[in-house]
Amino acid sequence: MNASALSGSPASDRVITKDHWFEQFKATATDKELYRFLYAMPKGGDLHNHISGAVLADWWYDLALAQKEHGYRFYTKVRINNCRDFGNNEFARRPYLMLFNNLMESTYNQLPECEKAEYKRLEELTEKEKAGWVQSVMLDHDHEGRDEFFQTHWQRLDQLLHSPYLIAEVLYKNMKAFGDEGLIYLEVMVEAGGYFKPDGSAISEDEAVAIFRKRLAQADAKATGVTVRFQDSILRFAPNAEEQLKASYDIVSRHRDLYVAVNMVGREDNDKGYPLRFTKTLRELRQKYNNVRLSVHAGEVDEPNYHIRDTIMLGADRIGHGINLITDNDLLRQMRHGPYLIEINLISNLLLEYVSDYSQHPFPEYLRLGIPVALSTDDRGMWDSNITDEFFVAVKEFNLSWEELLLLSRNSLQYSFVEDDIKQQLLDTYNKRAAQFEKQFRSKGVAGLKASAPVSYGFTCKRYAVCDLR
Ligand SMILES: [Zn+2]
Repeated sequence: MNASALSGSPASDRVITKDHWFEQFKATATDKELYRFLYAMPKGGDLHNHISGAVLADWWYDLALAQKEHGYRFYTKVRINNCRDFGNNEFARRPYLMLFNNLMESTYNQLPECEKAEYKRLEELTEKEKAGWVQSVMLDHDHEGRDEFFQTHWQRLDQLLHSPYLIAEVLYKNMKAFGDEGLIYLEVMVEAGGYFKPDGSAISEDEAVAIFRKRLAQADAKATGVTVRFQDSILRFAPNAEEQLKASYDIVSRHRDLYVAVNMVGREDNDKGYPLRFTKTLRELRQKYNNVRLSVHAGEVDEPNYHIRDTIMLGADRIGHGINLITDNDLLRQMRHGPYLIEINLISNLLLEYVSDYSQHPFPEYLRLGIPVALSTDDRGMWDSNITDEFFVAVKEFNLSWEELLLLSRNSLQYSFVEDDIKQQLLDTYNKRAAQFEKQFRSKGVAGLKASAPVSYGFTCKRYAVCDLR
């Protein structure tokens, strides 16, 4: 099956009338019934997922404490005593006025005494402090938008992200949760670099990859039925982004059975990270490497610009977000029916205020113009959501047909960077499961949906009052 056969607008080939079983279901189902249907519905892949943003708030605490097994102990800041010496030392450069900043014990031990008194061992938090700590890693208040996300969340998590074992466990927990939602493929941004041993010394990229591989090989991970591939990502506006890019190409190329692509992340309204900055470096890298794909965040920005054009020119086969494609008529026309896919993140875009409500989101326009699109979760831990929520928003806000739901899932496999033979197996599995699901639902209705209760989270509860399904 070729890509263009999948990316065409389904509405043009089939007549959807109000008698269609799915149209009838939507017309009569309660929101909870629709959610149950979408949770049980077989799905393809999640192609846009940052592992460190995919940690649900109620996972963090136990995960952090469990790192003791690998020698890690964490401290978190519970008060501010105005003791920062803003002199020229290593600690003066760390963010100071930030509660619930997390440090490894080896870093904590080096703090000046006054600052040490501001931190507490994570396991010694009072119930109230623990509740505050858990809240602090969620983006759940109306005033918390883009700045809170980009500038505070990651700095607060800080050294919790230094343990590769924690990341490996987050990976497993996502595989399990996504598998329960009927997802069969996860292409996730898992950086190979940036990890440290409990004593503060660096863990090499190859050592970190070995830890991830070992976790993926465990029986419980395999039992999820979710096939996993990684992307390595670079921070596009960092002063050393070109060096990061070279290191990323190297790591992906050397671990190509697990790592399939390089991504570029970081807010696009920081103009230090504009796409054309990387033209020269990428051209040099392409002289040497023959097996690295690119999926790049582009068009996740309010202003019209040429970031998506430039990013395709850079060699990206998939675009993350692509919100401002809607402002570029020429490119919009060229992108109809492929070959590039836009990774759509409906919940992320709303919560980070790239759209103020869903009537402004370009997703239905892309979908119905025949531009290949798939739904993905971006940073679901931060939004307190799952992949079902993305489908729920899409159906509720844009009246998706059954054919469109099938198309989105097939696209999420067809445009993945997994090896061709495995891709075909995944597509076959998906098609078989989707056909079975449709048959079963048409004969038994809601009563025939999987017995296990769907798990829902805060986003759909707060916004659509679909709560407590677990
Ligand atoms: Zn992203």
